[in-house]
Amino acid sequence: MKITLNPLAKDEATRNALVAEGGFGKYYTDHMVWCEWSEKDGWAEPELIPYGPITLDPATAVFHYGQEIFEGMKAYRQPDGSIELFRPRENAKRFANSAKRLALPEMPVELFMETVETLVKQDNGWVPNKVGESLYIRPFMIATEVGLGVRPTNKATYLLIATPAGAYFDPSKAVSVWISTEYVRAAQGGTGEAKCGGNYAASLVAQKAASKEGCDQVVWIDAKERKWVEEMGGMNLYFVKGKGAGATVITPKLTGTLLPGITRDSILSVAVDLGYKVEEVMLSIDDWREGVTNGEITEIFACGTAAVVSPVGQAKSAMGTWVTGDGQPGPITMQIRNHLLGIQHGTVEDKHNWMSAVK
Ligand SMILES: *Cc1c(COP(=O)(O)O)cnc(C)c1O
Repeated sequence: MKITLNPLAKDEATRNALVAEGGFGKYYTDHMVWCEWSEKDGWAEPELIPYGPITLDPATAVFHYGQEIFEGMKAYRQPDGSIELFRPRENAKRFANSAKRLALPEMPVELFMETVETLVKQDNGWVPNKVGESLYIRPFMIATEVGLGVRPTNKATYLLIATPAGAYFDPSKAVSVWISTEYVRAAQGGTGEAKCGGNYAASLVAQKAASKEGCDQVVWIDAKERKWVEEMGGMNLYFVKGKGAGATVITPKLTGTLLPGITRDSILSVAVDLGYKVEEVMLSIDDWREGVTNGEITEIFACGTAAVVSPVGQAKSAMGTWVTGDGQPGPITMQIRNHLLGIQHGTVEDKHNWMSAVK
């Protein structure tokens, strides 16, 4: 990889002050990675360069037809001060799957890994120290062929940036959700399984509707029968049936329209490790309403890289409002959250070999 260091890199005191501010996506590290692809020459050698604005022709394809994909992953500080990534190869594979769906070039897993490891190593001083904090890493790819003709691009640019992420989890606050029956996120054959900006662009009007209803997030139901629960905003959903050791931890199964979350997949294993039964099933909004009303569903939570695990309290829809349990974060939700965070921060045994050292 070609390396051009940033002559204006922040000094240690400034950097530490910015990292200590917490928050999410407010400050970016000193460097970024840039890698060009063309149909003719394939992938060029990636370059680590100073973080900064990029210049593109106004007729660049991505501005007009939205051919873009991204990933979200994290680097965590370990007790000995070293840094580890959580299941980075899963992000690399999903990035390639998203590329395939959006007619973008598939980046080889090893090239993806090299870019992530090089940036994290270079900007390691930006990885926070406290539990619940991390360096959030955002790989993305845009179509860069210039011209207004609608066609799969023959040029693409891969970029990689990183931002310190604070611990924004407030255990006293469960998320409230608006179950959208007006809009759909994804249909069979669409882009629901791909991590692409277009999915988000089409979802924001529903997010606005959720805010208007006083809710924090949108829950999507399936496009065809309009009754099966799919996922929440940018996170997957989990439902806990029963209490204590006999509880079952349930998540909507991957039907082709849900984003296959790496946190979702990890929790399927963590829940078994903790002694719970797990199920991947179709769950309807009627099951949700009846389950929380008769007390069978005791806890609901959402999961994803950014927030890891977030309890879901109240659900609102055109059919009424339902509260999960007492509306507070449940014990199994918190146990799974703490276990997963423990693995990520190196304080709980990593028996599935999920952590990957940045050397
Ligand atoms: C990224 C994302 C998720 C969560 O995936 P993780 O790999 O767990 O971060 C869930 N839903 C959508 C729509 C997403 O974009």
